[in-house]
Amino acid sequence: MPGPHPDFIPPARPIIGDAEIEAAVRVLRSGRVVQGPEVAAFEEEFGELVAGRHCVAVNSGTSALQLTLLALGFGPGDEVIVPSFSFAASANAVRLVGAEPIFVDIEPGSFCLDPEAVAAAVTPRTVAVMPVHLYGHPAAMDKIMALAQRHGLAVVEDAAQAHGASLHGTPVGAFGTAGCFSFYPTKNMHSLEGGMISTADAGLARTLRLLRNQGMEQRYANEIVGANMRMTDVAAAIGRVQLTQLAEWTEQRRANAKYLDSNITGMVTPPVADAARHVYHQYTVRTRGDRDAAQARLTELGIGNAVYYPIPIHRLKPYLGEDGQPGPWELPETERAAAEVISLPVHPSLSPADLERIAEAANLAGGAR
Ligand SMILES: *Cc1c(COP(=O)(O)O)cnc(C)c1O
Repeated sequence: MPGPHPDFIPPARPIIGDAEIEAAVRVLRSGRVVQGPEVAAFEEEFGELVAGRHCVAVNSGTSALQLTLLALGFGPGDEVIVPSFSFAASANAVRLVGAEPIFVDIEPGSFCLDPEAVAAAVTPRTVAVMPVHLYGHPAAMDKIMALAQRHGLAVVEDAAQAHGASLHGTPVGAFGTAGCFSFYPTKNMHSLEGGMISTADAGLARTLRLLRNQGMEQRYANEIVGANMRMTDVAAAIGRVQLTQLAEWTEQRRANAKYLDSNITGMVTPPVADAARHVYHQYTVRTRGDRDAAQARLTELGIGNAVYYPIPIHRLKPYLGEDGQPGPWELPETERAAAEVISLPVHPSLSPADLERIAEAANLAGGAR
């Protein structure tokens, strides 16, 4: 068995630079460390990314989703339409509030919710749709918003992978009832751990602020039952530094993707929908042949790679039926994507030489069997 490649290109490379470290130290020395001035400033500044919507910072992207569903009053007996082709957090948030995820198929091009499949899944119990802007590609929000309005449904955008993505110029997180972002280290920007909720609804924003902090606005004057999902000021300070870099990093990701698009012929490169601005959290190709062999070849050539996600959520243990079998979901594009996709490195730290190696390796691996 050969050893690891000497010049291995990692699939992701979280950035923690001097500016992030200095910001963290500054906050630690200040003594104001939890939900203080840094959090307030981060919320204000992040608002610019979501067309000036109210922003509420929390401790993770999963918390953002869970708290939003809770704030909207959803729970047992309610159905929320979600893609099965996503990270489990999307459906977990639904289950955590006691509601039921209804799994719907994706469009093969964007890997995001198929609006027609959403329409077909609406029942009298449906309360919300959760489009996931997977890999940084915006879901078909124009169609999904029209449909949601027709049926009186809330729309909770899972924008955990899509900071700065847009459709027809409208940024993700500025379409739905609320948008939920993650600042986990491998995301397009991070705060170590963290999340943000954007909403145009001031009342909803206030409820979210109460829920993240034991139901309190004034200390010990608890108004409702709440959780502790506060963001620390250390996290916010790091997030603020990262936010100043996001535009540049996104341009780099897009330039890297453009290079890969024009130089990869051995695999199917990711299409971008009309009027969509893709921010390439992942650069995800489809293999035409044996995926395991392709992944092994990539790794041998020193190219980090990963499958997001090999098992669709409806096939994960917590989502199986009582008989231990997946429910009667019809999700052919989800199954096909889960069997075919490989994500290649696209992060902003790649050099031109790295990109050349990635494209070359993808072309070699494309023929692997
Ligand atoms: C990362 C991610 C989340 C969860 O965010 P955390 O900050 O890790 O809790 C939710 N949905 C999707 C699609 C994600 O990629």
